[in-house]
Amino acid sequence: MSKKTWKKIRDRITNIGKCRYCSKDMVNTDSFVAFLSTDKNGAKEKAHHDCMKKDDQVRAEEKTYE
Ligand SMILES: [Zn+2]
Repeated sequence: MSKKTWKKIRDRITNIGKCRYCSKDMVNTDSFVAFLSTDKNGAKEKAHHDCMKKDDQVRAEEKTYE
């Protein structure tokens, strides 16, 4: 990808939907992940990268306490 293309993408901020975990609106400049699963509207579920990391940590801790 050339620098010119990257700048174009970075300058255009669009709402990409709500975070799966915290339900806040996300924009394409956020660090996010997309899931294979889809929501009721048929759109791919997405989440903040940080929220997913936190969720993974919670799951790991739950396992430890089993
Ligand atoms: Zn989030």
